[in-house]
Amino acid sequence: MTEDVRRLFRLDNEVLAFRFTATLSDRAGASPRERLTGPALLQLWLEAVGLGVADVAPAELKRAVALREAIYRAGAAIASGARPDAADARALNAAAAAGHAKPALGDERAEWCLTKAAPVRDALGVLATDAIRVLGGPDRGRVKKCEGPGCAGLFLDSSRANNRRWCSMNTCGNKVKKARIATS
Ligand SMILES: [Zn+2]
Repeated sequence: MTEDVRRLFRLDNEVLAFRFTATLSDRAGASPRERLTGPALLQLWLEAVGLGVADVAPAELKRAVALREAIYRAGAAIASGARPDAADARALNAAAAAGHAKPALGDERAEWCLTKAAPVRDALGVLATDAIRVLGGPDRGRVKKCEGPGCAGLFLDSSRANNRRWCSMNTCGNKVKKARIATS
């Protein structure tokens, strides 16, 4: 993976579906930052997470962003102890059901095989399935919203004490620490 891709996207979230929701960052800030600003950017992001497709159509980008926001709203609801909106659950379920991706054991790790007919649909199916797995699984009580300044990004708290507050120590955790040092 090139440095450029790492600069364009935040790829450090352990949960694939939450890595997807992080393509809109600074959600609670004054100016949320949309990183999927065109079909080519979605193509680049999919490639970076092992869901490479040859091409993304504008309509597919639109569908992807709609799914991403449904995942985010459902995750944010669960993080605050609420039930996801029925329409968002339906959107996740429909995207998961529409996908035909198959896992395959590659040389070193599992890979996703997408169909030639509708690879983007399949990729979105993988993302929706991952969201359902996390948001409906035994760790759903560990789904949280980052407390970093303006972030509000979703993450899964895998700490033993279930007391993690930031989506990533490298970004939001560090920001908070630096701010504390500056004011102390
Ligand atoms: Zn954060």
